[in-house]
Amino acid sequence: MPKFRPLQQRFWEKVDKKGINECWNWTGSVDKHGYGHIMARKSTNELVKAHRLSWMLKNLRVPEKGKWICHTCDNPRCVNPYHLYEGNRKTNNEDRVLHDPNSPRRNAKVINEVLRCAKIE
Ligand SMILES: [Zn+2]
Repeated sequence: MPKFRPLQQRFWEKVDKKGINECWNWTGSVDKHGYGHIMARKSTNELVKAHRLSWMLKNLRVPEKGKWICHTCDNPRCVNPYHLYEGNRKTNNEDRVLHDPNSPRRNAKVINEVLRCAKIE
């Protein structure tokens, strides 16, 4: 049985990467709402949303509890991290977070958490 390649690598292979202002469409499988997903953990068939993973890989942390990863472009298939921000469901249209100078601190704890989320067995 072939070994699973790192999640990050498998993720970017499925991204139609373009300019920073364009949408990067997910070319892998999508759910019924149009959101891309990828297998995070083979042993448990655990799926992670592609746009959520993209955000986590950029910010090196998991979203705060109760927060959603939202699109500024209203394109559920888009995984361009510059089109994604952490917000409440109701504030879907605010893109302030994207330009917040107080970006999250990248400490070892959160990085470990992301890696745990992205872990492959
Ligand atoms: Zn987009």
